[in-house]
Amino acid sequence: MTPITEPRLIRVHVKDNVAVVVNEGGLPSGARLASGLELREAIPEAHKVALADLAQGDAIVRYGVTIGYTNRAIARGSWVHEGLMTAPDAPPLADCPLATATPEALAPLEGYTFEGYRNPDGSTGTKNILGISTTVQCVAPTVEHAVRRIKAEILPRFPHVDDVVAITHPYGCGVAIDAPGAAIPIRTLRNLALHPNFGGEVMVVSLGCEKMQPVRLMGANELPVLDEKASVAVLQDATHGFGEMVATIMAMAEKKLEKLNRRRRVTCPASDLVVGLQCGGSDAMSGVTANPAVGFAADLLVRAGATVMFSEVTEVRDAAHLLTARAAAPEIAQNFVREMAWYDEYLRQGGADRAANPTPGNKRGGLANVVEKAMGSIAKAGSTALVGVAGPGERVTQKGLIFAATPASDFICGTLQLAAGMNMHIFTTGRGTPYGLAMSPVIKVASNSGLARRWPDLIDIDAGRIATAEATVEEVGWEIFLLVLEIASGRKKVWADHWGLHNEFALFNPGPVT
Ligand code: CA
Repeated sequence: MTPITEPRLIRVHVKDNVAVVVNEGGLPSGARLASGLELREAIPEAHKVALADLAQGDAIVRYGVTIGYTNRAIARGSWVHEGLMTAPDAPPLADCPLATATPEALAPLEGYTFEGYRNPDGSTGTKNILGISTTVQCVAPTVEHAVRRIKAEILPRFPHVDDVVAITHPYGCGVAIDAPGAAIPIRTLRNLALHPNFGGEVMVVSLGCEKMQPVRLMGANELPVLDEKASVAVLQDATHGFGEMVATIMAMAEKKLEKLNRRRRVTCPASDLVVGLQCGGSDAMSGVTANPAVGFAADLLVRAGATVMFSEVTEVRDAAHLLTARAAAPEIAQNFVREMAWYDEYLRQGGADRAANPTPGNKRGGLANVVEKAMGSIAKAGSTALVGVAGPGERVTQKGLIFAATPASDFICGTLQLAAGMNMHIFTTGRGTPYGLAMSPVIKVASNSGLARRWPDLIDIDAGRIATAEATVEEVGWEIFLLVLEIASGRKKVWADHWGLHNEFALFNPGPVT
């Protein structure tokens, strides 16, 4: 945890002609590396140094792949920044190899367990929460008012319930509800209502006249199973004003809380975990420290039989050909290509492409373009075969490594991974974010020790120790894996839960509004 003073670079792959500065605060002009390389100019932390003289038009290679081409000659020891690079085109989807390099299954990892909540539908919770779903934004402030009172006046009587969460959103009316894109927000909200951490106790608040009626939200198969009187409150049924609406919601919630309060944790195999992986505020260290460590933990989880989801379409698009090759079967690779193609078209209609992904912070953090970001990002997915693909907001029930298609936006990705059934979230960051979710614990992994030191009360794991050679990828990977089991058991809290930092739901609605 002490800052290193010797000039130090990290080169990921033997083919790489650039390496990344590890030293906090960067390195000055004239700094000499152990290899004898002398820097021709000051280079910021996590930014790239040319290891060889590059001519104009040469490939810039990092992670063993071309992340760009030089737009002018760059001398050895110079700073290779985004202004000197032209990004390559995305790999054509039609040429992606289908399941040509499926990895062999790794040895099973047995005997790892956590203390979770068993649900009637076979899923497992890591928290015990009352979720209150809403069909339309019109009811949101009323539900939020009621939830504040429930938390203050009722919840303290039910000590075995962790929280009450209102699933409020801007959908439900004023939208083209029969348009093809509408399926995504509707199934997202339905699957959120059925989330494993809600223990099967569905509660819905409806206005009455909205397009997304409760039956539309919950589905014709699901709603009849619910006791509608006990589970659906319709505000327009109130004949005595706002007070009656709030009283109705509170009374319904109290009955649900009585049931949830009777639940207890039981020992569950690690295979009951559904872990969502995400990154946000990445820097050039993310791809050599935090993401590979999470990738190692992902392999451990897959070996233990768990479900591991990775997402963020625009951050994997440039690695599409590597991921399709890793699929367990050609159909799985084709499903992956289908999700990529859908998103290419979605972006095209908006007049953008995947190059719109990197942020100013990513670039200040040394990530020159989306190709470099993608190569670092997919390290999170570890090394096992891709066994399944889910569309945005679909529930995932399969074990193993799954691609759950989502935008890269932290909040939309988090919301869609929750809809997929995520009961643990692992989030890597280089620039830093206080991100958290109410419905699932979020373990935050820092890519650099500077961030972990500045924010000791927000970062759960410091993977920057890999860059400073204080820990290996394997060691940090095991730490993450064991912390997942601790947090999932409720024995320990992530910092976001300690402070109650819970970002709002952000629905993905690719359909038109009216
Ligand atoms: Ca993200």
